[in-house]
Amino acid sequence: MSLCDLAPHHVRGIAPYQPGKPIAELAREMGIAEDEIVKLASNENPLGTSPRVLAAIENVFLELARYPDGSGFDLKAALAERLKVGQEQIVLGNGSNDVLEMVARAFLTSGSSAVYSQYAFAVYPLAVQGVGARGIEVPAKDYGHDLMAMLEAIEDDTRIVFLANPNNPTGTFLPPAEVKSFIEEVPREVLVVLDEAYYEYLPRELQGDSVGWIAHHPNLIVVRTFSKAYGLAGLRVGYGATSAEVADMLNRVRQPFNVNSLAQAAAMEAMEDEAFLEHCLDINEAGMDQLTEGFKRLGVEYIPSHGNFVCCRVGNATAMYRSLLRQGVIVRPVANYGMPEHLRVSVGLESENAKFLQALEHALNKS
Ligand SMILES: *Cc1c(COP(=O)(O)O)cnc(C)c1O
Repeated sequence: MSLCDLAPHHVRGIAPYQPGKPIAELAREMGIAEDEIVKLASNENPLGTSPRVLAAIENVFLELARYPDGSGFDLKAALAERLKVGQEQIVLGNGSNDVLEMVARAFLTSGSSAVYSQYAFAVYPLAVQGVGARGIEVPAKDYGHDLMAMLEAIEDDTRIVFLANPNNPTGTFLPPAEVKSFIEEVPREVLVVLDEAYYEYLPRELQGDSVGWIAHHPNLIVVRTFSKAYGLAGLRVGYGATSAEVADMLNRVRQPFNVNSLAQAAAMEAMEDEAFLEHCLDINEAGMDQLTEGFKRLGVEYIPSHGNFVCCRVGNATAMYRSLLRQGVIVRPVANYGMPEHLRVSVGLESENAKFLQALEHALNKS
């Protein structure tokens, strides 16, 4: 008997999450110097972390022997004030990924189901399958979420609907009014997880007041992260905002010290540094224009995106991905999402985007 047989069927059936290739790994494999490699594979902030944040966490280094504040009091207070909700409505996560897992652990069993869209963020099916629940995948419409079809897909045993807006990897976006109407139609005994990992990148007029909807929809959980626009992916910190009842359940399955002390301090400072955030958004907008103009010039189709990444259609994406790797450019294949002809590329700095476009042109000419 293999030890794998000791794991339940639903765990053995999990297809592991495929992260973007680390720079050090490509450097080892191809013998390319690390500083010549461009990584546009994990939607990380190309400007790195704000210098203000780096300065603020230095004080915390001296306290690393101590456990972090398990309740995350200060960070929750700062978030609650900003979001105009009570502190008891905030749940902190070791990345927002942690919050998504908590929702699955707290509310799903092997006898229940969760609804999500085709091409939706890969962590939803993973979290659902990890607790032995049934995932109901709803066919996408133009690569985006088909809200009507998702409503109709809700069954008697459905406890959660996952919605990513903007969605990763497609970058598709639903206007706030449509999401709000959807939430109004979802039965009150079904939780709606609204994953807004790219919320900060939206222009003001497209940023809905999703947290404000919680007052009327206690079954709504809005999930956001410090990994993307705030440039803290390596520290792992995100949060959910929801009703006090739902937050209470999430906190019961949360690890006692899930958000480390550096992450808590960094997130507090990151929220204050509005100048850095604005700069990141400007760079992203310019970079997105640079990439999409490059695609047009090369005759490459792409899915218009509201995030800090964009999917382009390149035919044999595996071959194209490999060719880009050989040229020192790491992007993300999305065949595991059922998109074998697309590559997802994160928006980088101007020079990084240029290097990617040049490598893409080279790869296209050879294929
Ligand atoms: C990146 C991402 C997350 C998770 O990010 P964390 O680093 O775990 O906070 C969640 N949802 C979507 C859609 C993402 O793209």
